[in-house]
Amino acid sequence: MSYDFDLFVIGAGSGGVRAARFAAGFGARVAVAESRYLGGTCVNVGCVPKKLLVYGAHFADDFELAEGYGWSLDEAKFDWPTLIANKNREIQRLNGIYRNLLVNSGVTLLESHAKLVDAHHVEVDGQRFSAEHILVATGGWPQIPDIPGREHAISSNEAFYLGQLPRRVLVVGGGYIAVEFASIFHGLGAQTTLLYRRELFLRGFDGAVRRHLKEELERKGLDLQFNADIARIDKQSDGSLLATLKDGRALEADCVFYATGRRPMLDNLGLENTAVELDERGFIRVDDDFRTTEPSILAIGDVIGRVQLTPVALAEGMAVARRLFRPEEYRPVDYAYIPTAVFSLPNIGTVGLGEEQARQQGYQVKLFESRFRALKLTLTEDQERTLMKLVVDADSDRVLGCHMVGPEAGEIVQGLAVALKAGATKRVFDETLGVHPTAAEEFVTMRTPVGG
Ligand code: FAD
Ligand code: NDP
Repeated sequence: MSYDFDLFVIGAGSGGVRAARFAAGFGARVAVAESRYLGGTCVNVGCVPKKLLVYGAHFADDFELAEGYGWSLDEAKFDWPTLIANKNREIQRLNGIYRNLLVNSGVTLLESHAKLVDAHHVEVDGQRFSAEHILVATGGWPQIPDIPGREHAISSNEAFYLGQLPRRVLVVGGGYIAVEFASIFHGLGAQTTLLYRRELFLRGFDGAVRRHLKEELERKGLDLQFNADIARIDKQSDGSLLATLKDGRALEADCVFYATGRRPMLDNLGLENTAVELDERGFIRVDDDFRTTEPSILAIGDVIGRVQLTPVALAEGMAVARRLFRPEEYRPVDYAYIPTAVFSLPNIGTVGLGEEQARQQGYQVKLFESRFRALKLTLTEDQERTLMKLVVDADSDRVLGCHMVGPEAGEIVQGLAVALKAGATKRVFDETLGVHPTAAEEFVTMRTPVGG
């Protein structure tokens, strides 16, 4: 049977674009449908605009430090609409780049919603297309719990387009997005409270990292409230919001921002017309080669809910393109040692196992930790402290995890990820010379274990 396309990709986000471009480059006839925005979540309402807002928020700290170095600044003023307009212009530029990338690589681009009709057919704007393989890369969507007054809350999608910076913000959640946006709002001058339902945020990260970030955020004046959750939100006559907590307390705010996880985007996708199954969490179930339970349909990225990060979606997209159209170059995605950063202020950078995870997996661990005030701060009043931590397997000497809380932690951890992937031992770290004077050199100068 002949098909219109060899591969039909639904969703032009991180994973879909990567799969489509490479498949076309390998000679396949490829179509991509995108219903909302080229580049997907990361480019439009995720990594990129988020990082731009974090840069914006960081100036508050920079201005304070500058005085210690002899600079005097008139009172700094911040204008949110300028930041948002400039950010929007940059995102539009990136949308154009994504369009060119796809079109120039020979992909047929359909800028509309796509729906599965059966195992080999997709409908877009009333037109039916056939494809030998269909790749679902539809990403995720913010999930807000169903509490009374939920309609008054916003998610990260709306936060990127607020007309004004709210004066008082309540951020709900304890994951990446909550912590990053709490830092953004606080850094830009909003009175910010973060509410998290358990003891300590960033569940799953190394314990020392979580405690250190808590201390640093509190030192900066962010109001962190743990074991706290909202029961209802009411709009008051003056337009402000009143959040009533489960423990009965009431907090006033101008904006309630929920960052309580993301669900797979399956809306009107037509999965019911196929044999594609979902897993117990509601994400699309796939095997090691990203095949769903419908043999001609594959799925990658946030919609399969493995690791919701752009570089992971890119790697999965690449793996699918290679396996289908360049099998001799196929390598499975390796999920070990995925480095990641939380762009809070200060940043977290981490790769490999946290102390608690390593113990749970049965390792005898040796721990190395360093806490210090960065050289840059010594001429200033800023008391921020940097944390670096290594988790080492006491038996093999292999470094299992590197963790940092401090400026540029995301930048620093990328290089360490190469070392961990290559199986570096603590001895290799010890024999590596530092770059002086940097903060990063602490990673190769920690000599005395702090515990194990
Ligand atoms: P997406 O990028 O979400 O793309 C899916 C696309 O499919 C979308 O464009 C959507 O419109 C389209 N689509 C959906 N349904 C249909 C349909 N039926 N028809 C046609 N098109 C459809 N990751 C990092 O690595 N670093 C970060 O710093 C980072 N920051 C983030 C900050 C925020 C606020 C958020 C929300 C996420 C962040 N992420 C970050 C995660 C990252 O954005 C995602 O992991 C990544 O975008 C997933 O890529 P994807 O291809 O699976 O899906
Ligand atoms: P996460 O899954 O990281 O965190 C969700 C948070 O919300 C958790 O703290 C969770 O608590 C809490 N939560 C969940 N449900 C409820 C509820 N009903 N009531 C109260 N609290 C609740 O999701 P995010 O939305 O922060 O981000 C989604 C994903 O996007 C991340 O996991 C990450 O993969 C990706 N991302 C990556 C970034 C980066 O690389 N820098 C930045 C932003 C996002 P509990 O711990 O109790 O489960």
